[in-house]
Amino acid sequence: MTAPIPPTKKEFCTAFPLYEEFTFAEEDDEAGWNIFFSREPIDTYCPGCNAHSIFHLHITGDIPRDHDAWVGSRRLAVVLKCSRDAAHKLFFLFNIEDRTVQKIGQYPSLADLNTYDVRQYSAVLCKEDFREFTKAIGLAAHGVGVGSFVYLRRIFENLVDAAYLIAKTDSGWDDDAYQNGRMAERIQLLEGHLPEFLVENRSMYKILSQGIHELTENECLAAFPVVKMGIELVLDEKLAAAAKRQKLEQAKKAIHGLVSKAGTEARSSTGPLDC
Ligand SMILES: [Zn+2]
Repeated sequence: MTAPIPPTKKEFCTAFPLYEEFTFAEEDDEAGWNIFFSREPIDTYCPGCNAHSIFHLHITGDIPRDHDAWVGSRRLAVVLKCSRDAAHKLFFLFNIEDRTVQKIGQYPSLADLNTYDVRQYSAVLCKEDFREFTKAIGLAAHGVGVGSFVYLRRIFENLVDAAYLIAKTDSGWDDDAYQNGRMAERIQLLEGHLPEFLVENRSMYKILSQGIHELTENECLAAFPVVKMGIELVLDEKLAAAAKRQKLEQAKKAIHGLVSKAGTEARSSTGPLDC
């Protein structure tokens, strides 16, 4: 069996659930060293800036040169400093037993770090769905598979339903096929009403047709990013459509203003001509 790919510093700090253990293989000592001592910049959400920022390792004292310097029984803290403002810091605490590393604390929370990027979608999701979307992300970040998946699945189905309501007014719509179809087939039938990527990769959504009792925590966690991405793709299109509608509205208003102004000027200049 090949050793699992070790997480990067960014993954371990900003995406890895608390208390989940990762054992580095001996040949991956450098990857372990990177978690604690690498100065590679990390791009992530900064609560101080309330925006993405670049963070660098903040360390007092010397950085050990030996790649196995972290191995043993110890606790190591990783502090990352925002490049915009040195007072903005992210804290992570790791427990190490031999080559097994476990993140045992962090500030800000994983949910805070991971929900920033989806805040934009509150504009195109109903309040309830948006709340459940961020809840799902928070749960998944803490390693809760089935629970997070239930929320995500409901939001995904709501979005597919919304596309269905439009699609069923199309001429030649086969409602029987849709009603009897599983999720992958439904997505196929909704071609043209859902993002192309989703339709092309519809087989990935087979898991949505499985009953919750048939799924394991790990299956749900593994499917989570795919379903989340599917949701985001649909929402990205909705955001783009909303932005387009807004621009058209503005253009209409601007044109209307111009026309009525021209009309006023035309009327005011309808007096006796000079010649
Ligand atoms: Zn900052």
